[in-house]
Amino acid sequence: MKRFKIAVIPGDGIGNEVTAEGIKVLDAFAAYKGNIGFDYEFFPWGCEYYLKTGNMMEEDGLKTLEKFDAILLGAVGDPSVPDHISLHGLLIKIRQGFNQSINLRPVKLLPGAPCPLKDKKPEDIDFVVIRENVEGEYSGVGGIRFPDRPEETAIQTSVFTRKNTEKIMDYAFKLAQKRNKFNKVTNVTKSNALNYSMVFWDKIFQEVAGNYEEITTETTHVDAVSMYFIQKPEAYDVLVASNLFGDIITDLGAALQGGLGFAASGNLNIEKEYPSMFEPVHGSAPDIKDKGIANPMAMIWTAKMMLDFLLEDSDTEAIIKAITEVLVEGKTLTPDLKGNAKTSEVGDAVCEKLKSIL
Ligand code: ATP
Ligand code: MG
Repeated sequence: MKRFKIAVIPGDGIGNEVTAEGIKVLDAFAAYKGNIGFDYEFFPWGCEYYLKTGNMMEEDGLKTLEKFDAILLGAVGDPSVPDHISLHGLLIKIRQGFNQSINLRPVKLLPGAPCPLKDKKPEDIDFVVIRENVEGEYSGVGGIRFPDRPEETAIQTSVFTRKNTEKIMDYAFKLAQKRNKFNKVTNVTKSNALNYSMVFWDKIFQEVAGNYEEITTETTHVDAVSMYFIQKPEAYDVLVASNLFGDIITDLGAALQGGLGFAASGNLNIEKEYPSMFEPVHGSAPDIKDKGIANPMAMIWTAKMMLDFLLEDSDTEAIIKAITEVLVEGKTLTPDLKGNAKTSEVGDAVCEKLKSIL
């Protein structure tokens, strides 16, 4: 029996509601397997915690989290707390503190999910974005000169290290090998305008590509990638992008796969020196919080990604299959999918399907 220690940070808004469903599905999967189990410890961090204590998480929270195998996070954010505080005080602190340098974002249209591109079929939209996750444009380097004077100037510097850039490029190539779809990696860049950072980025991409002769490469500017996501999403397999560009194109990706209700992500420390963190892409959705109507599918998919990182087990695909069956059946869907089911009913329905698949 292998037991995994999971730190759970449900966070704010719908975070609590969807996290419960992710855990429900993890437990259903473990019950089927019989030889794995999860020990959860819950941490009440987030904006509510901030409003009480002035901190988004415990001061030595990273030390506490270090002993876990993985972190499952719901959502962080509250209209009364500025976004840069909630983001830097928790999410970015954990991503950077645990050197979770890879942000893994699958973009896959499941049968039954509402795609805004009416001529596209599920098989047309199936790619993965690797987003650099600890440096680049979000390094937090910069400052304000001459505050509140007419000369006031804001400076925000991007930082790209060779070591980290090589690592994420290498991960992208390995993933393309593993997926074995088109054996192709697309480098998302903007080296025509960003003449230091992105020229360097492209150079590292080419260097790493040299180690993977059998993988096809292409380099495309981020503005063009945004257009091609709409025009020919079927052309993509694995894309590698900087922190800022990856952030933007993955929201576009979320739209392609049917919305935030389907967008899952993993923040990976691939060296496994620290825990990795798994979170749905959506935020705390204050407009629907406490109503029990949030779509838990993104969180359930996220929990599946956590399983994939913890164990090599092809059975985890059954979780995606179970979500798909619920979608196609169309009986138990939340209001964002034009249904009237509760969050927990969707979690139950996915577990039901999972049991019959496994
Ligand atoms: P935050 O500040 O925490 O990022 P936000 O206001 O940006 O919150 P998001 O959570 O990103 O809100 O959501 C944007 C919109 O998508 C909202 O209208 C929200 O209700 C909807 N939404 C997000 N996630 C879900 C979900 N899982 N199920 C249903 N609707 C969702
Ligand atoms: Mg948001």
